Amino acid sequence: MAQGETTIVTRQRKKYMTNKYEPVIGLEIHVELNTKNKMFCRCSADYFGKEPNTHTCPVCLGLPGALPYTNKAAIEACIKIGLALNCFTPSLSRFERKNYFYPDLPKGYQISQYRWPLCVNGYLVLDNGQKIRINRAHQEEDTAKLMHRFGSQKSKVKSQNGTQIDFNRSGVPLVEIVTEPDFHNVEAVRDYAKKLQQLFRYLGVSNADMERGDMRLEANVSVRPEGSTDLPNYRVELKNINSFRFMVAAIEYEIKRQITALEKGEKISQETRGWDAEQKSTYLQRSKEEAHDYRYFPEPDLPELRIEESRVKSLESSLPELPWIKSKRFEEEYKLTSAQAKILTETKELADYFEQTVEHGKKHGVEAVQIANYIINKKVNIEETLPTQIIEEIKNKKVGIIDNEEELTKLAERAIKDNPKSVADYKAGKIPALQAITGGVMRLSSGKADVAKLRPILEKLLKQ
Ligand code: ADP
Ligand code: MG
Ligand code: ZN
Repeated sequence: MAQGETTIVTRQRKKYMTNKYEPVIGLEIHVELNTKNKMFCRCSADYFGKEPNTHTCPVCLGLPGALPYTNKAAIEACIKIGLALNCFTPSLSRFERKNYFYPDLPKGYQISQYRWPLCVNGYLVLDNGQKIRINRAHQEEDTAKLMHRFGSQKSKVKSQNGTQIDFNRSGVPLVEIVTEPDFHNVEAVRDYAKKLQQLFRYLGVSNADMERGDMRLEANVSVRPEGSTDLPNYRVELKNINSFRFMVAAIEYEIKRQITALEKGEKISQETRGWDAEQKSTYLQRSKEEAHDYRYFPEPDLPELRIEESRVKSLESSLPELPWIKSKRFEEEYKLTSAQAKILTETKELADYFEQTVEHGKKHGVEAVQIANYIINKKVNIEETLPTQIIEEIKNKKVGIIDNEEELTKLAERAIKDNPKSVADYKAGKIPALQAITGGVMRLSSGKADVAKLRPILEKLLKQ
């Protein structure tokens, strides 16, 4: 066999006979906005826990002849989300009708956006440096809520068994944010989803509570042979995910299920699967209808949206400092480790609290790093502790922080020994693995190690 042929065979083997697969994942995130009113009527959008069907009117009940009108605050919130995600806001945007039949949809269609979304072509950079492309962020309305009471033993009144519909949620503003299929591992998906939740809270556009359904995740999953760059010609959409933990479990399960099927030579069909938290597995919900089945067409009862550049500019300047930018600033301005900065910017409230304390500390010669260590190690409850109290305690040296190099080195060496996997990951270039080793030192030192001083020591030891 000639040299060239060998190469081809090897390459083909690599491509087709490999047992290694790479997941391809795209995310669709829905977030319910906390505007005062619903999307297309003046009913209160604050429906959670309210008496069923008390927040309704002819518009959100879908009664014939009722005319919708747009909620400006919701539109602005959607544009803000888009801007924070580096999207472009076209000057023309439109609503369309997405037609399908389901009892939670009284009009027989959902007012959504398809061809003319408010925000397009954005991206978000993850902790690992990967840039996730965002296809669009568009505005739509929520559906009513179905409450199934089949077989309920508690209900003595027979007529109460069955499915009931609460229209309080019908027409509540929703924003859907769709990524390109850019994720290849669950850690990246988790990081992205958490960043979005954090963003919604920083922007103040939603509580983004997953359990309450303020924020809903749908993951599209497929797998391909490692090395291939083709987009698989199918995708499985995962629904019913109401926590980050379940999202990770569902995606991991699905990746395994698909690889097993491919290895058996089976073809995977395009479908929607739900996550069964008890069985810890996904199950078939329905085979996927194609997008054109929805027969999207422009909503004739709503005017098109003309969005002036000046309005976009003014919304952009109204954005708060975004969490990932704040976190970078904390690292530079206060000489914090990325792990510390990340913790302290987790919520805007905590970040503000930290900065207030730093401001106060300046007058007393207390360093920002000391304050960061204190707040993190002591898990300070910011509702109950005044910044002045923290300064007082640090000054009085009531806290036994370990910042001595020799002691820290000993602790670091032990943590390195205890965490061979993280060490290997770190050496393979996975920088976030350093956090796990840092966590090890924290445990060994009962939270007393000075993280800022520890980091260079760990980095030095890990280079050896
Ligand atoms: P639709 O309009 O039917 O919802 P999209 O093309 O908008 O379809 O895709 C929806 C989601 O599915 C997006 O997040 C996208 O990134 C993701 N996706 C598309 N193709 C794949 C694939 N082969 N594997 C995984 N995810 C995919
Ligand atoms: Mg979709
Ligand atoms: Zn209404």
